[in-house]
Amino acid sequence: MSELDGKVALITGGTRGIGLACASRLAAAGAKVVITGRSEEAGATAAETLGSNGLFLKQDVGSETDWVAVTAKVQEAFGRLDIVVANAGISNASPMVDMSLEQFRTMHDIHLKGAFLAVKYGAIEMRKHGDGGSIILMSSIMGKISAAGYVHYSSAKTGVRLLAKSAALELGPEGIRVNSVLPGFIRTDMTVAFPEEQIAPIAVPVKRFGNAEEIGDAVLFAATDRSKFMTGADLVLDGGMIAR
Ligand code: NAP
Repeated sequence: MSELDGKVALITGGTRGIGLACASRLAAAGAKVVITGRSEEAGATAAETLGSNGLFLKQDVGSETDWVAVTAKVQEAFGRLDIVVANAGISNASPMVDMSLEQFRTMHDIHLKGAFLAVKYGAIEMRKHGDGGSIILMSSIMGKISAAGYVHYSSAKTGVRLLAKSAALELGPEGIRVNSVLPGFIRTDMTVAFPEEQIAPIAVPVKRFGNAEEIGDAVLFAATDRSKFMTGADLVLDGGMIAR
């Protein structure tokens, strides 16, 4: 018997990078895994790698209508929801005075509004079976520190981190745990423009970027009963970057 047999997980932005690595870990542990994203082509390809435990659903995480539709389809397909990983995200940079309100708002819609809707609709589904659950929000070390050009990203990721703590306080009595994961530099499409050989020796104490699978391992821990006393926590996985 695998650790997550009988459990159903929903991973937003699960079609590549960190989200797909989380989906692979949870599927390998026995969970039925629903991955979401905007690109149907990427989603279909990613779902194939998960085998019979995987299902792709198209979703924009900033859309409440999409959350209603996705959670209804998860119910229809698997009859319950136990684990939500709010991982979908984008990244871009711009000086604050040149940043349009639209650029700022889009970043907050995907990360902060997306996390709010993930907790809300995740908890609604978990209340239906009453067995509790685990909600994991993908923040970032940029939710603790910032960098020039990232006012929209770091303010959204800080909000995500504190949203997890508020939700942990509210939902703890029902056995629904809510934690944040704070990755540092991880090798994915999001960081292709950042040269690891130049950045890592200076900025990262362990002298390398992380792998998506290393974040997947932390998410698996947060999803299972091995972490059942952990809620409202910040799981920092950054090779020591913000230990200074
Ligand atoms: P990635 O490789 O670019 O993947 C992003 C995923 O999110 C894709 O599946 C993408 O699919 C999906 N997505 C983007 N916007 C979406 C939306 N509006 N609705 C639904 N899905 C959406 O990025 P990643 O590096 O794996 O990042 C995953 C998460 O980790 C993000 O929240 C990111 O901020 C966070 N993070 C990453 C790093 C890093 O170094 N890589 C560090 C700290 C935190 P579609 O484009 O098809 O929608």
